[in-house]
Amino acid sequence: MRIVLTLLTIVWASPWSLLGIIVGLLGLLSGGRARRVGMALEFHGGAVTWFLRHCPNNPMAMTMGHTILGLTDAALDITRDHEWVHVRQYARWGPFFIPAYLYFSTVLWFQGKDPYRDNPFEREAYGDTD
Ligand SMILES: [Zn+2]
Repeated sequence: MRIVLTLLTIVWASPWSLLGIIVGLLGLLSGGRARRVGMALEFHGGAVTWFLRHCPNNPMAMTMGHTILGLTDAALDITRDHEWVHVRQYARWGPFFIPAYLYFSTVLWFQGKDPYRDNPFEREAYGDTD
């Protein structure tokens, strides 16, 4: 039964995982590397590094469904606990994760708060408890 639930969460998050896999494959074609960690695929280097360097906030890593993109191998190691919280959030929210994330960021921005650090998804990933 647990395997069925796991497969359902993978399918549920698959639209965003697919996007991450596309960026990851472009990374592999340009000298990057990939590995599987648990139920996630991690990619770093090549076009993945270029992609992250051109994102707002210059992230060390970014989770897309069950895919984690990192600047480097070391960046993936440093950020793994944080990014795995996002993997579990994608498993819960599925296709609605990015729209919900952007909704909270927009509302926070209009309230004069930090659209990244005050976002409830990031607060959970950073372990903020208040
Ligand atoms: Zn995060």
